[in-house]
Amino acid sequence: MTSGGRIGVFGGTFDPPHIGHLSVAVEVRHALSLDRMLLVVANDPWQKRGSRALTPAADRLEMVRLAVGDLDGVEVDDREIRRGGASYTVDTVRELLEEASGAEVFVVVGGDAAAGITTWERADELARLATFVTVHRPGFDGPAPAEGFGWAEVEVPALDVSSSDLRARIADGRPIEVLVPGPVATWIAEHRIYPRDR
Ligand code: ATP
Repeated sequence: MTSGGRIGVFGGTFDPPHIGHLSVAVEVRHALSLDRMLLVVANDPWQKRGSRALTPAADRLEMVRLAVGDLDGVEVDDREIRRGGASYTVDTVRELLEEASGAEVFVVVGGDAAAGITTWERADELARLATFVTVHRPGFDGPAPAEGFGWAEVEVPALDVSSSDLRARIADGRPIEVLVPGPVATWIAEHRIYPRDR
């Protein structure tokens, strides 16, 4: 067991990871003086089920590792993949609190994800265990703080980039360089994990 610390949990599908994700991680870590900012790769993001075939978790994990590189204080966390099954943030936060006694956990969500947190698995329990941090995302209005949830808001650079747009770009042969870190763009080109229309 390690002791204490302020830990950020930024969960996502990261299919693929992009500069919007990294910018949020770096900015929130700085603004809230977090000791660690964890990018937690979802195994089975149940909110996104059925919409399309997700890239296998191991590939998404590899891309997040490449994206993070040696960014100071930002770590890739694969516990939801190792745990298997549906990915529930409440289980992740509970585990982190068990591992680091006295830790304080901050769950980071963009405007789109924030709107749905009351529907998350055991949302009440999660609200007791962690503080939510919302960041603005272009195209999504900030939600009103939900009753019973502790909230902080952090101003981040507005980067209108999304994994969906990146997949669409790959499909029709447009560039993804700059929007994803170089090593991720190279890895995607080499592994051809996203379908192309042409
Ligand atoms: P998709 O387009 O496939 O839905 P996404 O780009 O939203 O993917 P996710 O992995 O689903 O990426 O997002 C994980 C978290 O990152 C969510 O809380 C989401 O709100 C946040 N996020 C994603 N992109 C941005 C962005 N450009 N600015 C701020 N937050 C973002």
